[in-house]
Amino acid sequence: DELISQIAAGEVIERPAAVVRELVDNALDAGSTHITLRLLAGGVRLISVEDNGVGIPAHELPVALKRHATSKITSLTELESVGTMGFRGEALAAIQSVSELSVLSRTANQDSAMLLDGRSGELQPAARAQGTTVEVKELFYSTPARRKFLKTDNTELAHCVEAVRRHALTRPEVGFAIWHEGKLVEQWRAQTIDAASGEDLNKQHQAALDRRLADVLGDDFLENSVAVHYQSGNVTVVGRAGIPDAARSRADHQFAYVNGRYVRDKVITHAARSAYEDVLHGHRQPIYALYVEIDPTRVDVNVHPTKIEVRFRDGREVHQAVRHAVENALAVPRA
Ligand code: ADP
Ligand code: MG
Repeated sequence: DELISQIAAGEVIERPAAVVRELVDNALDAGSTHITLRLLAGGVRLISVEDNGVGIPAHELPVALKRHATSKITSLTELESVGTMGFRGEALAAIQSVSELSVLSRTANQDSAMLLDGRSGELQPAARAQGTTVEVKELFYSTPARRKFLKTDNTELAHCVEAVRRHALTRPEVGFAIWHEGKLVEQWRAQTIDAASGEDLNKQHQAALDRRLADVLGDDFLENSVAVHYQSGNVTVVGRAGIPDAARSRADHQFAYVNGRYVRDKVITHAARSAYEDVLHGHRQPIYALYVEIDPTRVDVNVHPTKIEVRFRDGREVHQAVRHAVENALAVPRA
């Protein structure tokens, strides 16, 4: 089982940023409104993710570290896809197999927090407010070959920040802080969305998202981008598309989301690039954040263990929607 976990880990945990991606994903799943990431040595010596979510009940702590034990499987088809590709209920198990992992957690109705040492399996009371802290130390200590492939601390840190950025750009109502070697590297305040305020929720979300985009990508991104709003058939595309110039061209700042999850998708990338070529001729690396909403039955999210790739049932439909969405946005004269 340890070996299977290590193989699974090799597939999915390629560097510290992959651990960060999974731990932040879990923290968001737990309904957290604030998430703090602390790193040492680019994440190789320590990755700690601290949240204020629902916490893990003490009796479930050991279960959380077991493969598949906590899979959120609700149907037989899902169960089948787990066998081939699904990476469900095994992120913590996979991470634990290549690191020293501990989980400190407290739910709302516990008198104290509990600390689980992944290596020894020892469970003991500890101090903490409601929420969860997962600590990952000495990543790849048992797989020196993998450790050798890691880049400098600063490069690994940049990848870790990028992993949080991808989450942050789709969850503006959650606050994030990133520390490296005791120094605050990034901080993105939680943007309030108040369902009770009577104000239109979509508008509130859009405003919150704009503020988050400015926080994460820079105020100048907001000033030098246009809003995207497009709907056609099964597909809705919203977000912002940057007006590129030489200074703002960044190969790593194309953010695409499908139903709220960050994806790397050739259909979307190609469609967006085509729109830029049509309207602005020759600008190759624009900055954009595009949020595609599509009927979940028209997209398969289980084609990659980390769900970073998706397969659309009708790629042309999505391509056209994204291309038109960006073209329309860019063609509108700016106020
Ligand atoms: P998955 O997220 O696919 O269920 P993981 O291995 O990532 O699998 O996590 C295992 C389980 O541990 C989760 O299903 C969840 O119940 C629990 N868990 C992990 N991290 C947290 C967290 N930060 N807050 C609350 N529960 C968590
Ligand atoms: Mg998970």
